[in-house]
Amino acid sequence: MRIEYDRDTCIGMFQCVAEWDAFEEDQDAGKAVLAGAEQSEDDPDVMVREVPEDAELDAKFAARSCPVEAITVYDDDGEQLVP
Ligand code: SF4
Repeated sequence: MRIEYDRDTCIGMFQCVAEWDAFEEDQDAGKAVLAGAEQSEDDPDVMVREVPEDAELDAKFAARSCPVEAITVYDDDGEQLVP
């Protein structure tokens, strides 16, 4: 499973932080930080990382919790799962 987080879309509501501990608060920037993620080659504002199996539920909850759909989760075939 892969997760993508669009930092440009994020409005810093931090619901995702409560759902998965890979998301951390950057209070100064008013944006979430996705630990262990790398910049997408397609869009420098988009951060990408793999989701460990034991964190898949938390990652999906984080994606569902985001009010502006800044977080997207894909399965290993590239199919979009959430939102
Ligand atoms: S829930 Fe969405 S808007 Fe809120 S901090 Fe996380 S990514 Fe940003």
